[in-house]
Amino acid sequence: MNELKNLIKGRLWLPGDAGFDEARTPWNLSVNQPVAAVVEATGADDVAATVGYAALHGLTVTAQASGHGAVAAEGVILLRTHLMDGVEIADGVARVGAGAKWGEVLAAAGPLGLTGLAGSSPVVSVAGYTLGGGVGWFGRKYGLASSRVLAADVVDAAGARARVTAESDPELFWALRGGGGDFVVVTGLEFALDPAPVLYGGRVTWPLERAPEVLAAYREVTARAPEELTVWFDLMKFPGAPGFVAIDCTYLGEHPGELLRPFDAIGGTISDSRAVLPVADLGSICAEPTDPTPGAGRVELLTGLDDAVADVLLADPIDPLISVQVRHLGGALSRPSGGAAGRFTEPYLAYMVGAPLPGTAERMDALSKALVPHTSGRKPYTMLHPGEQAAAAFDASALARLRDLKRARDPHGVIRANYPVLGA
Ligand SMILES: Cc1cc2nc3c(=O)[nH]c(=O)nc-3n(C[C@H](O)[C@H](O)[C@H](O)COP(=O)(O)OP(=O)(O)OC[C@H]3O[C@@H](n4cnc5c(N)ncnc54)[C@H](O)[C@@H]3O)c2cc1C
Repeated sequence: MNELKNLIKGRLWLPGDAGFDEARTPWNLSVNQPVAAVVEATGADDVAATVGYAALHGLTVTAQASGHGAVAAEGVILLRTHLMDGVEIADGVARVGAGAKWGEVLAAAGPLGLTGLAGSSPVVSVAGYTLGGGVGWFGRKYGLASSRVLAADVVDAAGARARVTAESDPELFWALRGGGGDFVVVTGLEFALDPAPVLYGGRVTWPLERAPEVLAAYREVTARAPEELTVWFDLMKFPGAPGFVAIDCTYLGEHPGELLRPFDAIGGTISDSRAVLPVADLGSICAEPTDPTPGAGRVELLTGLDDAVADVLLADPIDPLISVQVRHLGGALSRPSGGAAGRFTEPYLAYMVGAPLPGTAERMDALSKALVPHTSGRKPYTMLHPGEQAAAAFDASALARLRDLKRARDPHGVIRANYPVLGA
């Protein structure tokens, strides 16, 4: 593996090197990555050299920008792309490097009256999120992040560089829009931004006892929400602190008028951060940790949010989970995305997050099981968690298409996504 060092401009870490452990540690600190080597790529040439080297020596490469979606990547060459973090915007189109984070894109797009289709965290990478679909704040109005991809600069499984568009390589282009990172390594992405000249949003919190009222109001508000309005419901409990219930919202406009009135009628709020806010501050609404953190999660797509689902969500204390979030989907997310992610016909999703403590997995299992009658069984690819399979993210025809493409383009398995499409 030492000869790889001479082929790249970036750093190579091998087991035993000082700094190897730090270099192989992902953002999600609960995931151990016993990799064979870590390459810190400085650009597309380093990526091509690394993949070419792996192809020649029968090795496997996993690209990783941040490690938010990390799984135990045993024996692979971990290709860290965080240094490739360029962001350029021109004519409503963003061109970003494989390591760019959403917060950087939003900071550049906001002053132009534009936004990208980012999710809750400003430090998730655009590449990993978008390749998996990307269920974000403005999905109801504008769709999945993957639907906005216009072109990708890639390195294929033989180590050759290419630019992929709908015209140059329709099948790969389709796969890159939501099918994950199993086919090529992306070195740069081009995607259309969407209008957000004025943005309103924030979080309102109440003591946990108010949860039944807040959930009732949530059902009422989301039942008639226009696509410009997105509201998420959260039950939250940090260790050693009292639990609380919250709603997080964004509205593509100056003010949502009466649309949020059912929440205002509840009273007894602990905090209310709702205001007109810069697009650049979108990532602060949910106040998620930005520094590396250990975490475990689970997602379920809900077929409805009726009394029976509300009863399940409110039945037991959420501990030892930290949060149970319900996201309102629908709108453009329910329409075809033009890529492998397809569309989400489910109107809501439930996202559970906990520290990897004793009891967390059992609590998530119990909640998932209780929700089963109200779930579709499908999961967004970006929200899969260690132990789950890519097959859960796609309908049968999309999965077959992705598997055919994988066999055709990477027959020796040189590139491996966190959730490989040929997995069980
Ligand atoms: C705090 C938090 C908040 C989140 N919020 C949301 C949300 O609102 N909406 C949502 O949809 N998801 C959300 N996610 C999930 C997140 O989108 C996925 O974990 C995503 O895979 C993270 O991408 P990343 O590149 O930052 O992570 P990484 O772990 O670096 O990458 C994940 C995978 O993406 C692929 N990949 C990354 N870069 C490349 C590349 N250059 N070429 C090819 N493949 C590549 C690889 O298969 C890699 O294993 C969240 C996750 C966390 C931890």
